[in-house]
Amino acid sequence: RKAAAFGISFDTDRDGTSAPAVIDGEKQSNLLHQRNRLPVTKYQREILYLLERHSCTVLVGETGCGKTTQVPQMLLEAGWAAGGRSIACTQPRRVAAITVATRVAEEQGCTLGREVGYKIRFEDVSTPGVTKLKYCTDGSLLREMMDDPLLTAYSVIMVDEAHERSLSTDLLLGLLRKVIAQRPDLRILISSASLEAEKVAAFLDARTVKATRKRDRNASSGPGPMGDALVTATNGPDGDPADLATPAILSVEGRLHPVQVHYLEEPCADYVVTAVETTVELHREGIPGDILIFLTGQEECERAVALLEEEAGRLRRVGGKNALRIMPLPLFAGLPAAQQMLALEAAPRNYRKVVAATNVAETSLTLEGVTFVIDACHVKQRTYNPRTGLEALLVAPISQASAQQRAGRAGRIRPGHCLRLCTQEAFSKLQQATVPEMQRAELAGTVLQLKALGIDNMMRFHWLAPPPAEAMVRALELLHSLGALDDDARLSKPLGCQMAELPLEPRLAASLLAAGRFGCGQEIATICAMLSVHSVWASGGGQRRAIEEAQAKFSTAEGDLVTYLNVWKAWEDSGRNRKWAERNMLSQRVLLRAADIRGQLLYHLRRLGMEPISCENEVAAVCKAITAGLFSYATRLEGTIYESVDADYSGTNSYSLVRGTGGQAVRLRIHKSSVLWRVRPSMLVFHTVQQGPSGWHEMQDVTAIQPEWLPEIAPHMFQSVTRPRPQPGGT
Ligand code: ADP
Ligand code: MG
Repeated sequence: RKAAAFGISFDTDRDGTSAPAVIDGEKQSNLLHQRNRLPVTKYQREILYLLERHSCTVLVGETGCGKTTQVPQMLLEAGWAAGGRSIACTQPRRVAAITVATRVAEEQGCTLGREVGYKIRFEDVSTPGVTKLKYCTDGSLLREMMDDPLLTAYSVIMVDEAHERSLSTDLLLGLLRKVIAQRPDLRILISSASLEAEKVAAFLDARTVKATRKRDRNASSGPGPMGDALVTATNGPDGDPADLATPAILSVEGRLHPVQVHYLEEPCADYVVTAVETTVELHREGIPGDILIFLTGQEECERAVALLEEEAGRLRRVGGKNALRIMPLPLFAGLPAAQQMLALEAAPRNYRKVVAATNVAETSLTLEGVTFVIDACHVKQRTYNPRTGLEALLVAPISQASAQQRAGRAGRIRPGHCLRLCTQEAFSKLQQATVPEMQRAELAGTVLQLKALGIDNMMRFHWLAPPPAEAMVRALELLHSLGALDDDARLSKPLGCQMAELPLEPRLAASLLAAGRFGCGQEIATICAMLSVHSVWASGGGQRRAIEEAQAKFSTAEGDLVTYLNVWKAWEDSGRNRKWAERNMLSQRVLLRAADIRGQLLYHLRRLGMEPISCENEVAAVCKAITAGLFSYATRLEGTIYESVDADYSGTNSYSLVRGTGGQAVRLRIHKSSVLWRVRPSMLVFHTVQQGPSGWHEMQDVTAIQPEWLPEIAPHMFQSVTRPRPQPGGT
């Protein structure tokens, strides 16, 4: 869309293997020049030396210094991938795994998916036996451990962006701690932009894992001695810094320029609007440099871009022909790859890039040329309340550590400015560091995975940050109610093992496995696939009305999940026609991806010995199978609540969890994006919930159910619908 206006050519959608195989010589030498200038390149010898000598090395360096793209290439070039094993570099975010792999393949001059590849859930762009360097999400590496617990396919595992402390990173570190005790030849490289490096190093100190260990005899001697000042090996009782078992810490000097931080004098009412106004002011001042705005999600980014586009038109009329123009671009995880590249690459001459980004731009992706950061100081994150058993996406203030990272994005090429959209006083009250995801997420998936790996005693597992015991108990309860665990809390056979095998969260896995009973495996596979992709509706700010109209054509009284099914069927009937999809405001790219995922899920089912059949138009069967996974999220309509301030929601739209919320007051309502928003059935199950600023929990992807289904489908949880099993402390 934007391509024409700015004279930039869009690639067609990336399909994983279409990266150019041959890159012209000039571009290649340019890339080499850029690579050589990165701070981390100067430390090549030290990094390789430490890797020879230590099982674990912690690498600390500013964002943009070259950790993610350069270090794995150093290892590759030093021969760490020789002898049939390869190098894995994990990323907490899918979008980063894909982008970085694409970039590195380009730097290596190879086709993506050959020597350099990536692997994320449902998408493996690598070639067995050929791929030497694989960027993968930490979650997908965890999955590989189910088949290969000691990760024997790899010689080096680089755990990247460890400072993010994602749930899967923490879990992976806990497991790697066990693996290194049995694989002295394996090397772990932990890289982080800001880490309590010592803490992770101490956590992985092999001497605490296994009291005695012989030094690896195979490790050849390194290229030479190195400056002591650079390397800190945690000194243990025996004080031998070159011991394989002792983790090493290496700090790479960044080359960050000073960033001046500014605050608002008064709090702002709407940070998207304030961010846009601030951008316009900055632009009018005429100071050169791109602008990066941190917001919390796709919707906000698109709204900001739409507002900025209006402003851009106005500024152009005022500024005249030769004036610098603004080029607003969004950047969020679900964005098509080609559009994402626009945000990452340098702006064309005469344009000032203004990127409205989510947290992905904080450390995962590096943007060129940013001099101004406008920070809304908020982030959308998972929060779990073990009392209510609800995990919600919540827009919350960021931590000071996070704000500091964001500010740093402004000082990459020259001194910069960071404008925080809060008062200095409010800022001083923010928490210092972000709570690790492990301590604020639902743990059912984690527990299921650990059980499948044979780790039964969760309490004795070594966690980098132990999750709350209450959350652990809740996870065990949920898995038990889904039939994944037996009464002794062991993985049940075959159901628990099958659930762990499926690349789906436990609830959806349970639905898919139950679908056999209801004769609708085909349909539930479709629904699970549609829930595993980003929105199938066309993205773009100004098109909401058109999307709503298109949505209405497919919507049904059964709810959003069955609506997805209708969309799918209609798309299939059209012969998976791109034109048809466009006419109906659907994204062909996302639909094709859903089709791929659907195929994989069907393959998994067949591998488990189940032949998925279709129930044709028996919708009740589909809804029952959905209920078999989501019954813990069953809610019923409560009495009337009128809210004059929030006209959209006035009337009856207040739900409560059927199973109770442990005495906690939780207000649930149907999210506006749902097809049942106006219908408001008396009972429903939802798939996800978001917590808005008003405090309401907004249910998304809802399905209407019949009350009598609950005791029928989950008799251990619901004896009768009118009298749910009392909860401890419940009302
Ligand atoms: P780190 O992991 O230390 O944050 P990276 O290895 O991701 O750093 O990036 C190093 C440098 O490579 C960046 O400063 C940027 O200039 C460049 N770079 C990385 N990815 C891309 C990309 N997709 N397109 C253009 N330049 C990139
Ligand atoms: Mg990085």
